[in-house]
Amino acid sequence: MNDWAKFDRKFCPCHGSGWAEVDLGIWKRCAIHWHGQTAPASESVIANNIFTQERDDNIRQEIRVSKLMIEELTLQLKQEQEHLLELQTELQENIPTITWNRNK
Ligand SMILES: [Zn+2]
Repeated sequence: MNDWAKFDRKFCPCHGSGWAEVDLGIWKRCAIHWHGQTAPASESVIANNIFTQERDDNIRQEIRVSKLMIEELTLQLKQEQEHLLELQTELQENIPTITWNRNK
């Protein structure tokens, strides 16, 4: 039993919510008005949630950039593989797939 609870919710530190913030981030159940309500998010929890949200947004942005880079590099890889295949075909089978500048 705590000694701060007041029957009139207007004067009770919990304002009838069932929870009172007795210290920064420390919530206590009101002996009179608490009937199983979940504890409200303290300011530090809210600040932490905002930080988490910002961090998640940054991560999502980095994921988008990373996916674009993979797409671009995949295209480059495909082009280089095609070029390699052309070179090998030219060398092994003497099929003129590449236009050579013989005067070079
Ligand atoms: Zn109360």
